[in-house]
Amino acid sequence: MTMLSKRKIKCFVCQKESEQDIVLSTSSVGYADLDFRFPPLKRYTIEFDIQRCPNCFYCSQNISKGIDEVKQIITTEKYKTIIISDLDEKVASFLASAEIYTQLGKTALAAIDIVYCTWIYDDRGDVESAKLCRILASNYIKSAIKNGKQVGTEEGQSEQLLIDVLRRAGMFKDALEQLEQFRRKKIISSENRATFHKIMDYEENLIQKKDVDGHTIGEALNIN
Ligand SMILES: [Zn+2]
Repeated sequence: MTMLSKRKIKCFVCQKESEQDIVLSTSSVGYADLDFRFPPLKRYTIEFDIQRCPNCFYCSQNISKGIDEVKQIITTEKYKTIIISDLDEKVASFLASAEIYTQLGKTALAAIDIVYCTWIYDDRGDVESAKLCRILASNYIKSAIKNGKQVGTEEGQSEQLLIDVLRRAGMFKDALEQLEQFRRKKIISSENRATFHKIMDYEENLIQKKDVDGHTIGEALNIN
């Protein structure tokens, strides 16, 4: 069961308090999607994974925390452009948070924020915006991989995410190239290798079928 609440949070940047939605508890049962979107019930609370200060517009997973550089970043034209855009407010908040991470050189964390935007657009049924966000996310993930930064905690997760994001954006040729590159790398430790090969075989099949839908890791492993 998911329990939501509202709590007054003091903003790290401007010190003003605002009421924010908080997830007190939730659960995850089953397998995540191939792009690591959580299984239910946590799947349905992604919009609460971002907060926005209504006073200074600082956007973060937790606006009570931050580092001093953030205070300057949120005053830049680029940041303000994202905030005042006519994008969905949650999407704009995640993109604003991604801009902060980008300016701090944390490309992998920026990529995750952009992947969140793809999920929000999926939920809104906005296929075209979800696709554009996936193309944007793929560029961030590529950049993170190039700079030796992992998206996620386990070896191979960045590549798995990249391949799924490209597939779901309909970038099948690029997805297949990344998949072949990933197979050639053979970086996966022996305990995870069989699992990753299964997932890659499943992805290859989806790419060949030009399937852009969401699928779970459980499906790839033939579990459900
Ligand atoms: Zn603030």
